[in-house]
Amino acid sequence: MREFDFVREHEVPGAVKAGSRDAAKFIAGGTNLVDLMKCDVEHPAHIVDINALPLATIERVPGGVRVGGLARLSDVAAHPLIMQNFPAISQALLVTASPQIRNMASVGGNLMQRTRCMYFRELTWTPCNKRNPGSGCSAIEGENRLHAVLGTSDACIATHPSDLAVAVAALDGVLTLRGPAGERKVNATDFHLLPGNTPQIEHDLKHGELIESLFLPDAPHAKRSAYLKIRDRAAYEFALASAAVGLDLNGSTIRSARIAFGGVATKPWRAKFAEAALVGQAATPEVFRRAAEAEMKSAKSYGQNGFKIELMKRTLVRALTDLANVEPALSRFAPAGEPAPRSGGAA
Ligand SMILES: Cc1cc2nc3c(=O)[nH]c(=O)nc-3n(C[C@H](O)[C@H](O)[C@H](O)COP(=O)(O)OP(=O)(O)OC[C@H]3O[C@@H](n4cnc5c(N)ncnc54)[C@H](O)[C@@H]3O)c2cc1C
Ligand code: SF4
Repeated sequence: MREFDFVREHEVPGAVKAGSRDAAKFIAGGTNLVDLMKCDVEHPAHIVDINALPLATIERVPGGVRVGGLARLSDVAAHPLIMQNFPAISQALLVTASPQIRNMASVGGNLMQRTRCMYFRELTWTPCNKRNPGSGCSAIEGENRLHAVLGTSDACIATHPSDLAVAVAALDGVLTLRGPAGERKVNATDFHLLPGNTPQIEHDLKHGELIESLFLPDAPHAKRSAYLKIRDRAAYEFALASAAVGLDLNGSTIRSARIAFGGVATKPWRAKFAEAALVGQAATPEVFRRAAEAEMKSAKSYGQNGFKIELMKRTLVRALTDLANVEPALSRFAPAGEPAPRSGGAA
């Protein structure tokens, strides 16, 4: 690891000032940054510890719930406001990493984590446009079983690794950012960027800006929401395909739907075509399959990762079918011995 200096800040303005210096980086849980420093992908000259900032609260505010950028993943997952009103968020966090990592990792750090593409982390011999712009992409004709089929470019096909970001994109989360120029708000769906010709630019966060909080708006489709993650092993693994889904049902008719995909795209993928295909339709597996087909029309295989196209469709159909058949916000959280009430149909 290269040399760096370290400062702990207790107030947001001081942190923003310290974080605005050249080659400065914030550190929260450190579970991603330290990893990347050890393999020399990241080499900040100044590290600004933000763990003492007062940004870890989870609270009700008008129209929704606000989650501080420093709230720990385990605290968010277990918070009653999140479990009851945004079950997809809680479920996405409960399948993230391991309990130990969730105790350390923060909301802001999770949204900012970098790709797990192995070429990105292997810097002794492989070209990687994200790590070294203009050097080429080793994955496009290399080992790409875990790579993206949506939102790719000739420069990069790496997936975005966050589970939380997928659920936040589906449920219309809004980030509050604070930097040297003051505060601004960005829709979560606009925060992460497609790679295009500049895969090294991954998000709409300017140097020195902090993710102060995440706002989750109340909505019927947020209350009836879920997250399904398919992976190579049942724990401690990133998604091959995942779906965050929310439904607002009138009887068995879909009033509104919210869908985002993970594990298959270069950014948390809001599935607008799938959502449009559901509105006004009956909540049936046939309709869900048509919605999946509509979204995956633009998917592109790079060889080894071609299986993800069908896997993503099946993941979406299963997630929506399960969701249509449970009461909002109850299914995964019924106490042991008390099975979750079932509506007996799609209503
Ligand atoms: C073995 C392993 C398995 C994992 N599995 C999963 C998984 O299945 N799903 C998943 O989603 N993740 C997974 N992760 C990733 C893990 O969730 C992230 O490492 C973690 O969420 C990062 O949070 P942190 O607070 O530790 O971030 P840090 O490492 O402290 O920071 C990461 C980046 O975010 C920046 N940053 C941190 N906080 C802020 C802020 N408030 N404002 C602006 N910038 C900020 C830092 O400068 C840094 O660039 C896994 C990690 C490991 C090591
Ligand atoms: S997919 Fe992206 S991160 Fe991976 S080698 Fe190619 S450019 Fe680098």
